[in-house]
Amino acid sequence: MKILITGGAGFIGSHLSERLLNEGHEVIVLDNYFTGQKKNIHHLMDNHNFEIIRHDVTMPFFIEVDQIYNLACPASPIHYQHNAIKTVKTSVMGAINMLGLAKRINARILQASTSEVYGDPDVHPQVESYWGHVNPIGIRACYDEGKRCAETLFVNYHRQNNVKIKIIRIFNTYGPRMHPNDGRVVSNFIVQALQGRNITIYGDGSQTRSFQYVDDLLEGMVRMMNSREDFLGPVNIGNPVEFTIKELAEKVIELTGSNSKIVYEPLPQDDPLQRQPDISLAKRELDWEPKVPLNDGLIKTIEYFKSVI
Ligand code: NAD
Ligand code: UDP
Repeated sequence: MKILITGGAGFIGSHLSERLLNEGHEVIVLDNYFTGQKKNIHHLMDNHNFEIIRHDVTMPFFIEVDQIYNLACPASPIHYQHNAIKTVKTSVMGAINMLGLAKRINARILQASTSEVYGDPDVHPQVESYWGHVNPIGIRACYDEGKRCAETLFVNYHRQNNVKIKIIRIFNTYGPRMHPNDGRVVSNFIVQALQGRNITIYGDGSQTRSFQYVDDLLEGMVRMMNSREDFLGPVNIGNPVEFTIKELAEKVIELTGSNSKIVYEPLPQDDPLQRQPDISLAKRELDWEPKVPLNDGLIKTIEYFKSVI
């Protein structure tokens, strides 16, 4: 198949490009390099089935493809808050442009939505039927509400125009090729530990996240794209094993053998206190569940960061 990936020079998109090329597909990436890097896809450049185009998804784009993975959007709070208006535009106008394209060429399109649509959840673990608890005027809203609106656009392009849509809600994902200055917790802690700097826990470290290794996400993502036509989602794709941020810091220190000390900094506004996916739907519909335990995934990610910093 001919497959378009928006945001394909980023962390997840570069792994997805590699996987789809290995499966024998032709892959075209659109990226404006806001948080993506050429070096993430450098090793794919010689593959005659791979092509990358510098393009901003807030502008229309025309091409003939069979499938579209819509991943373009900064994912780290530091980056998505850097230009909040642009983040909303990327999610909303990017979705409109890609859905318009999918409609025109009759392609199947998958949206990379997020656990952030649940906000600071008061239902735990989070199940897809939960509508969420998002502050629409808070500092995370540009990302959360942008992604919520994108979901709305996806379902309405399906209802009104029969576009073949798929929505996955991705929970915290980590692995090689995260940007060293990405600002997300796994990359921050590993880089700090490897450089012997203080490990910065925001708040008291009792907030929780459930961390998924990137290979597990890719498997769920590809299964969702190719699932039967009437299964649209949204479906949670995440690892349900939940850790406190303090436990994560201690694990990173142990696995790196670092002498770094833990320091505590203020918790950012609207930082969700707990997050854990209910993955019953993905298990049932996609026969999918994550396989990589945190320890194994962290070891691979630490090896990667050792090679780049
Ligand atoms: P990333 O920041 O590494 O990748 C995002 C990519 O999108 C980058 O290559 C960036 O340059 C590109 N991009 C941003 N704005 C663009 C625009 N206007 N036009 C074209 N390209 C643009 O982040 P990631 O972790 O790889 O996330 C990929 C997708 O998965 C995002 O949509 C994100 O919201 C979603 N997601 C990720 C996670 C996670 O834990 N990593 C969790 C939930 C959802
Ligand atoms: N966090 C932290 N130290 C850091 C970076 C993040 O304690 O250096 C915390 C952050 O406040 C949040 C959790 O780790 O509670 C996960 O943050 P991340 O930005 O990775 O993802 P998100 O909050 O979007 O789930």
